[in-house]
Amino acid sequence: MPERNFFRKAISAMTGYTPGEQPKIADLIKLNTNENPYPPSPDIVEKLRAFPVEKLRRYPDPTASKLRALIAEEWGAQVDNVICGNGSDDILTMIFRAFTDVDLPMAMLFPSYSLYRELAAMQNAQVILISLAGKDFALPDDLLAQAEKANLLMLTRPNAPTGTSFPLETVENICRKFNGIVAIDEAYADFASDNAVSLALKYDNVIVLRTFSKSYSLAGLRLGYAIAAPKIIEGLMKLKDSYNVDMLTQMIGEIAFADQKYMRENCRKVVAERIRLTAALKKIGFYVVPSEANFLFVMPPDGDGRKAFEYLRGNAIVVRYFAGEVTGKYLRITVGLPEENDRLIAALENFYK
Ligand SMILES: *Cc1c(COP(=O)(O)O)cnc(C)c1O
Repeated sequence: MPERNFFRKAISAMTGYTPGEQPKIADLIKLNTNENPYPPSPDIVEKLRAFPVEKLRRYPDPTASKLRALIAEEWGAQVDNVICGNGSDDILTMIFRAFTDVDLPMAMLFPSYSLYRELAAMQNAQVILISLAGKDFALPDDLLAQAEKANLLMLTRPNAPTGTSFPLETVENICRKFNGIVAIDEAYADFASDNAVSLALKYDNVIVLRTFSKSYSLAGLRLGYAIAAPKIIEGLMKLKDSYNVDMLTQMIGEIAFADQKYMRENCRKVVAERIRLTAALKKIGFYVVPSEANFLFVMPPDGDGRKAFEYLRGNAIVVRYFAGEVTGKYLRITVGLPEENDRLIAALENFYK
């Protein structure tokens, strides 16, 4: 019997998002998925040990109100400006369900986070790709004209995989003039010199997304949040899963978020290493795209990203390579611990000497 297919056409046509691998190699240096090299807040351990497991009988708070109140207070916002999700990917899903459709296109930067394309495909929504300009991957001057037909504009700031940020005034100007939702994905903003949260509190069409996966060292937990006008948050609440953030995640999130000092100190250490790694790679002959994130997008001296990726992998150092005409010339390297970065630098010095 021929195998039957009951999927919607749009789903059958999708390839699906490919996450960075979690390889099982001994003594591996893992610099491929932008995880934080430092552990999460030490305050978590004790609270987790003391957690009364019998509480798990009950459902969690469906809207994570205590955590949202903490987040709102930190940003000078109100609880109804905040929504939490099972990772910021969960909130991205809500945003695409809410603002894209067959006749409601989405615009995004290229190169950028490829999950957006998959989420648009699920909605049957057209994708408008806006190519970043030049070797510094800057926003093109005619971005607003290119994005004109879109109902949702995804701006990733700092961008991934390029690591670049865009001037806040330019972004504010886009928010002011764009006739649709501007969703600013700030997964890496804690490593950057500024952020766009004030825009989400000022404009009725701006959503800022944050995650606990990178700066809070909690990628395994799955927690993210968004800040926007109450009307947007209220709409997103309607289409989220009823209990999208579990009880343990709410508790751990509250502890981690309360320990801003620890998070900031880790970010400071990562940024210091980012600066050191940038200089070392330049010395070897790499072109290093200016980064405001916890990773670097770099072009090897011979412009062959794949060759460098394979060489490093053979030496138990895993970085990220994105095939393609533009991205294939580069590698994306997560900033690791000082000793990990040392081993990376030594391997590359050896390869290109
Ligand atoms: C890591 C990342 C995310 C995903 O965050 P989660 O909270 O782990 O789902 C979202 N956007 C960008 C650009 C990222 O790099």
